[in-house]
Amino acid sequence: MTETKKEEEKSLNFLEEIVEADLAAGKYSSILTRFPPEPNGYLHIGHSKSIILNFGLAQKYGGKTNLRFDDTNPVTEDTEYVESIKEDIKWLGFEWENERYASDYFEQLYKFAEALINKGLAYVDDSTPEQIAQQKGTPTEAGKASPYRGRSVEENLQLFREMRAGKYPDGAKVLRAKIDLASSNMHMRDPIMYRIKHAHHHRTGDAWCIYPMYDFAHGQSDSIEGITHSICTLEFIPHRPLYDWFIEKLEIYPSHQYEFARLNLTYTVMSKRKLLQLVNDGHVTGWDDPRMPTISGLRRRGYTPESIRMFADKIGVQKRDNLIDVSLLEFCVREHLNKIAQRRMVVFDPLKIVLTDYEKGEEWLPSEDNPEDPETTHRQLPFSRELYIEQEDFMENPPKKFFRLSPGSKVRLKSAYIIQCDEVIKDENGKIIELRCSHLPESKTGGAQANIKVQATIHWVSIPHAITAEVRQYDRLFRVEDPANEEGDFKDYINPDSLQVISAAYAEPSLAKAKFSDHYQFLRKGYFYLDKDSSEDKLVFNRTTTLRDNWVKEQKKA
Ligand code: ATP
Ligand code: MG
Repeated sequence: MTETKKEEEKSLNFLEEIVEADLAAGKYSSILTRFPPEPNGYLHIGHSKSIILNFGLAQKYGGKTNLRFDDTNPVTEDTEYVESIKEDIKWLGFEWENERYASDYFEQLYKFAEALINKGLAYVDDSTPEQIAQQKGTPTEAGKASPYRGRSVEENLQLFREMRAGKYPDGAKVLRAKIDLASSNMHMRDPIMYRIKHAHHHRTGDAWCIYPMYDFAHGQSDSIEGITHSICTLEFIPHRPLYDWFIEKLEIYPSHQYEFARLNLTYTVMSKRKLLQLVNDGHVTGWDDPRMPTISGLRRRGYTPESIRMFADKIGVQKRDNLIDVSLLEFCVREHLNKIAQRRMVVFDPLKIVLTDYEKGEEWLPSEDNPEDPETTHRQLPFSRELYIEQEDFMENPPKKFFRLSPGSKVRLKSAYIIQCDEVIKDENGKIIELRCSHLPESKTGGAQANIKVQATIHWVSIPHAITAEVRQYDRLFRVEDPANEEGDFKDYINPDSLQVISAAYAEPSLAKAKFSDHYQFLRKGYFYLDKDSSEDKLVFNRTTTLRDNWVKEQKKA
């Protein structure tokens, strides 16, 4: 067997193996998967794993994928979420075959419920939630029958119809499946199928006051659509017997459920309920705050769909829960941005330089937009007598290994000249306010003697040409690796320094035309992306990520 062949085989995940076996056995002529979000929040990076898996499987094996909103819980759901979910899936690069809603099937599901009643497999129960919980027993002790379990088919039908007609208040009655109160699987001990909820639904309005439970909606919706492989996360393993039981008793299309491990990421939380708390309590500015692990937050921060797909590919598909290091996600975005980002120069903390021997006034110097791209374009950078460099690139009394600017030393200004520091000017308090420098005209980048060697190259901007921009630098939203599993409230572990704002950084003038279609590398600073808060007269950039992984180093310092 050749190496590449081995590679291919090794890279099949367990779901691909199942699909390949099913197709080889002729079980299906083509596969149909679905992505089933509940529209009760914005999608997060965990969902992207499920999206990439479901759409990716179908793409790989010539099948299709439905987008199905699992909208059976009217109280928490909203059309704002529906719209954001669709936008995020498209942005990730996927197209669904059909857009469906579990609420499309409410009438059909109701009929399924009556069919089970008619078979003597479902009954209306007047017990309170507490009584039902009590009747369920414990994992080691069988449940007890509700006093209503023996109701006749006729009585159950009548009561269920009255429930639908709105005769009873919330919580007065439920419809339960009649299965096995002694089952070792708690989900099989007469699970609830329908509950009464007089609530407005974002799609069906006030047409219904009874709503199906997840377990009675999900598998049946899969079956109605003819989903071949219904893929969900591991916590649904104990629901699978119930999924199969409903399908078997209703004698409908046999969809199959498969489970994989959910994605957990370090230094963040990954549940919509928790993310909603961060939004509602004002810890972040919204679902698309660039510190959020949401798809919309990552997009706003400057992540690319390619980087997220690369990440999903690297983590693979597992059958056991684990915690993935967020540095891997950052690694992926760096890999991609290094290839596509436009290089620009921006000074965050300026120190003024005056080139005493520069008499040209100004000149425009070509600089590569992207040295990683063999077909890179060049932009023209304005150069003049007065420049800004970073404060940190100068030291008056440098230690031995400091190779940047210091009195008497030389550095190269990127894409321009080598300069030498001749004099340090201070104010009355002894603070350095300006450096007087001279330049080597023959050292001009691209010129005949451009190969004169110095130890360091630094970035700069021309003061009269510079524009200002706000720069937002982000750090991890939480101080600990797994905030959801720490003692107490996860919000106690929020990193108070997750946002650092530089209100006026000095940027080369080409950035005035910054576009959302472009990603930028600010030389020596990191990768940056235009923020939606930008306006005609104010530019705002988000730091997508640093150039290297600084986290470990900084943790050691702290
Ligand atoms: P949350 O706990 O964040 O609210 P959820 O599972 O309730 O998530 P759904 O809208 O029901 O969110 O999820 C849609 C699909 O995405 C489901 O198939 C679910 O299993 C999957 N999914 C959700 N979170 C993750 C995750 N962290 N990793 C992988 N898949 C996920
Ligand atoms: Mg859910």
